[in-house]
Amino acid sequence: MSELEQNDHRRIGQELDLFVFSDLVGPGLPMWTPKGTVVRQELDNFVQELRAPHGYERVTIPHITKRDLYNTSGHWEKFAEDLFRINSREGKEYALKPMNCPHHTQIFARKPHSYREMPQCYAETTMVYRDEQSGELGGLTRVLSITQDDAHVFCRTNQIKEEFLKIWDIVDKFYSTFGFILRVRLSFRDPETPEKYLGTKEIWDHAESALREIAEERRADFIEGAGEAALYGPKLDFMASNAAGREWQVATIQLDMNMPDRFDLTCINEQGEKERIVMIHSAITGSIERCTAVLLEHFEGKLPLWLSPVQVKVLPIGEAHFEYAQKVLKDLKVDNIRAEVDESNESLGKKIANFKKEKVPYALVIGDKEVAEDKVTLESRSGDKLGQMSVEDLTSKLKREIKERK
Ligand SMILES: [Zn+2]
Repeated sequence: MSELEQNDHRRIGQELDLFVFSDLVGPGLPMWTPKGTVVRQELDNFVQELRAPHGYERVTIPHITKRDLYNTSGHWEKFAEDLFRINSREGKEYALKPMNCPHHTQIFARKPHSYREMPQCYAETTMVYRDEQSGELGGLTRVLSITQDDAHVFCRTNQIKEEFLKIWDIVDKFYSTFGFILRVRLSFRDPETPEKYLGTKEIWDHAESALREIAEERRADFIEGAGEAALYGPKLDFMASNAAGREWQVATIQLDMNMPDRFDLTCINEQGEKERIVMIHSAITGSIERCTAVLLEHFEGKLPLWLSPVQVKVLPIGEAHFEYAQKVLKDLKVDNIRAEVDESNESLGKKIANFKKEKVPYALVIGDKEVAEDKVTLESRSGDKLGQMSVEDLTSKLKREIKERK
């Protein structure tokens, strides 16, 4: 196998038992196993933890909508080919959501907002559905069901810069945790095909120069990409690269002055007048599917402790040690450490080989000595022998490592 195939997320994902495709469900529709769901949840928890101090609040929307919403947003017309459509028994037209923003506008629009309440920041991790051609589907990088850690900031024009910089900080923190270097692309419209986008030239010029100003102020390593914009506005697209020289497109922050116009979104300003607001769309992981693929390839399956579905494998040498192994397992679970016991009849050598193959970060070896002294012997998947310690010392070491997301 070539190095690339060795390191393909589809192969690693299968070996680690994270997700599965079924012919009955169809291509491009991954289903996540219990272990894969742990990885998704941990990634999302991290994003929400980074967002929380910046005033983001969670919202929840249904996965379908009447056609009317997308007539107003412009998706029915401009996004037609990618839209999954549904007809109700009464002949009403619905669609599966290809993005969450139109729904979120309706949450913002539920009541008038004073300038004092701005910005309003809504976050929701949820699936969107896009009708890609089956020839384009493969692994987690091209899917029909995409989980976005989506967020929409509804803010005043004079808050754009501050809100963008906050999200940029979150992106930086998230990716530096994994050891990535980030580059940014200013994704602008293609001036040759203005009919592909929503909104006037004036609105676009304004939005694009605002993004350029933010990138310059941040002294970012950026390039400009014509024709890479979203339907409704220009974007900052982040590219993450690793030490091995591989690069992936990851997070995105998008400035949108069109959707607020189409849905007539305003706040009440200091003069008591209605003032048009703007929207900022952002996804830190990009999508959880893509992010998982990137991380599996970047780490060659050796996920960091905090992200590993199984963090510790308990390896009793023989049957005489099973009971103590179960007690250790119970202690680890009390401290929310994800652990399993290998109670197979294999030799210790085979058990050690197996835990390394499963890419579990740590193993605890338990034999006569450990049972007698009420201890465990710790070994890492990279082969480091970390010696004997009490379960108490072990859990505090692991908890620290998890908390710091080492
Ligand atoms: Zn959006």
